[in-house]
Amino acid sequence: MIFIPPSGRDALPARTDRASPQYRKAFEAYLRRGTPIDLRGRAALEEKAEPAARNRPATHYIWRTRGDGKVRPSHAANDGKIFAWDDPPPTGHPGEDYGCRCWAEPYAPDAQEFFNIEMKDVSDEGPPWGHTDFIRHYFFGGGRTVTVRETGHLGAVAAEFRRQAGDVPTRLPGQIADFARAEADGRFTDTFKAPYEMQHIVFSLGNTTIRGRFSGTRQQNHALLDLRGTISFKLTDMFRDPGDIEEWILEPIGAVGAFPTEFLGTPYSIVDHWRGTFAAKVLVDRRQSRFFYVPPR
Ligand SMILES: [Zn+2]
Repeated sequence: MIFIPPSGRDALPARTDRASPQYRKAFEAYLRRGTPIDLRGRAALEEKAEPAARNRPATHYIWRTRGDGKVRPSHAANDGKIFAWDDPPPTGHPGEDYGCRCWAEPYAPDAQEFFNIEMKDVSDEGPPWGHTDFIRHYFFGGGRTVTVRETGHLGAVAAEFRRQAGDVPTRLPGQIADFARAEADGRFTDTFKAPYEMQHIVFSLGNTTIRGRFSGTRQQNHALLDLRGTISFKLTDMFRDPGDIEEWILEPIGAVGAFPTEFLGTPYSIVDHWRGTFAAKVLVDRRQSRFFYVPPR
């Protein structure tokens, strides 16, 4: 369900003071209902996962030669190339051959890893709805579906999605990276779907589902995969809450009479869809990478 906090554009009925402690208390009580996800708990889990991945020893090296005339041709051909310690080239690892003066320069590609998701087409169609706009639509909108961009909150929702999943190495980037690793051929596609808590930013989205599909191409370049592709996002939510509005918001602030109490309103869908692109470099070796999927608890 959707609910706009006191920063919304509209006031409640004129006699209501939105800054009053009574109002705030009622509003907070409303927001607290349901089963909020502990975002801090999830963030802590991700923080835990990241340093562990970073601390793993390098599995790859860069072949280096002395660069003089005494380097055997097969080793000169390896110069500057990246090899895996568990997958030696036909020549063997540097220094293994008798008299070989070549050496392995540790290859620390972590810094070269990145995952960039860009949101497209998330512009809003007007100023953000205040919470009375959502209530008004509930009572008088006849159940008509609204788009998030119509309510003026799509930009904020997309930004919040990025914060919770799009920019988190163990969430959507990790999922795409894992899927690309598992695909043998050059193209990959898969779907994702998860509920997101949005109530602390613009409104109470108790159970907003954002789902989508990503498709892209992978190209292996030594230890790294080059990933490129597109993502389609779809958001679905419902505004339905006659009891709560009355019990937790209208009653404590004495605004029950502001709406026809015998008329409970009509639940309505809140939907939208938008696009995104991604460009990334991730390590083929999942154990080395910052980007791997950890399912939310
Ligand atoms: Zn050598």
